[in-house]
Amino acid sequence: MKDLDYYEVLEVSRDCNASTLKKAYRKLAMKYHPDRNPDNKEAEDNFKVVNEAYQVLSDESKRAIYDQYGKAGLEGGAGGHGGFGGGNMDDIMDMFNSMFGGGGGFGGRSQRDPNQKYSLDSEIELNLAFNEAIFGCDKEFNIKYKTACDDCGGSGAKDGKMTTCDYCNGQGQVVMKQGFMSFAQECPKCHGAGQSIKEKCNSCKGKGFKEKDETITIKIPAGVDSGNRLRAQGYGNESKNGRRGDLYIIFNVTEDEHFIRNGNDIYIEVPLFFTQAILGAKIKIPTLDGEEELNLKIGTKDKEQVIFSGKGVADVQTGRKGRLIAQIKIIKPTTLTIEQENLLLELQESFGIESTPHKSILDSTFDRVKSWFK
Ligand SMILES: [Zn+2]
Ligand SMILES: [Zn+2]
Repeated sequence: MKDLDYYEVLEVSRDCNASTLKKAYRKLAMKYHPDRNPDNKEAEDNFKVVNEAYQVLSDESKRAIYDQYGKAGLEGGAGGHGGFGGGNMDDIMDMFNSMFGGGGGFGGRSQRDPNQKYSLDSEIELNLAFNEAIFGCDKEFNIKYKTACDDCGGSGAKDGKMTTCDYCNGQGQVVMKQGFMSFAQECPKCHGAGQSIKEKCNSCKGKGFKEKDETITIKIPAGVDSGNRLRAQGYGNESKNGRRGDLYIIFNVTEDEHFIRNGNDIYIEVPLFFTQAILGAKIKIPTLDGEEELNLKIGTKDKEQVIFSGKGVADVQTGRKGRLIAQIKIIKPTTLTIEQENLLLELQESFGIESTPHKSILDSTFDRVKSWFK
């Protein structure tokens, strides 16, 4: 991926104009946008490459250098490692958002208003019981969200009084040099606002926000699993204009005592007493939504599996159900009463096996084992 041609990456001709380029970029960036491809590493990598390509080709001087010298020309001569390639995701998101505003049509990941001191989107981890995750539920829980401090209007400055940022002289940007090129970056001190706090607001200690508690109820779809992320629109932090961002909920599902979940499949271990395994048996086992009968034949083996299609977990996207897999575990007694021992001896003898191994059987067994090593 790293050495792909930037024109090929953006699927444009070498002589395309700026507006074609921007359209091509937007199309691909939207396709690979992290909000559309959560937890998809490949999409994230593609998103980065597309951004890298656009960063170069949309800048006339960089594009000229690239056309003439290729990528090496941009990497700043001998041994110099340019800032390309492993682009920082936050920087890329900032660039993307500054170009297309808001979240580029995604309802806002980090819509960077430089006067907005905290991110409007927030994230929490939520514990779910096994059944809540499998069947879905309306889940009520408490959250905290940030809201602008009334006393400073969210600025974090005492009485809202700000002063020009001395790091960027109020520009909000600082110019960085890399190889041949220089480009502007957001000022690290004022985060692009161009102004900084002279004296901190007493009420919020300069943070610009206060936290509020809220009890919310969110519909959890059936089939979610640990690590899945759900966006709850409008439950994030509140801007000073009263607009709420989004809350991202990451699930942590508690394990069940009996069922083991693997994706959309459910495993259950079925203890079977050794006499049942020998005799065969009909036994009832619990499933996610009731019971099933196992019809076990004579001589059922340890770890044998019985599979019930469509009795697993509903897929959170498609609703298609996985499998229920019942695995036999043969249980043997570890102590015997005299009576039980006699019964078993009697049974054993009925199969023609003597309780003390016959000498000739012993001999032949040892002969065979010895022969393995010859
Ligand atoms: Zn600054
Ligand atoms: Zn305040």
